[in-house]
Amino acid sequence: MSRTVIWDVWQAVSDKRTCARCGALHGKLFRRGEGPVPPLHDHCRCKRILSHIEIIEDSPPPVLPILPVIREEWKEEDDE
Ligand SMILES: [Zn+2]
Repeated sequence: MSRTVIWDVWQAVSDKRTCARCGALHGKLFRRGEGPVPPLHDHCRCKRILSHIEIIEDSPPPVLPILPVIREEWKEEDDE
């Protein structure tokens, strides 16, 4: 089994009109559906664009070792 996580990267327009808040977010990665979503304010020019897609493989359940069951054989008693 595997899960797919879509990562968006925040893209601010880098110029002197970019506010500090948006500038700080520039280049940050967010899972799609999480985190802040532009526009953060009036005239915000930020956007989130697809960065990459991560496929997370679920680790398989641990395999328990099967230990051999040692059975002591019945020792037949000598009855003479
Ligand atoms: Zn912005």
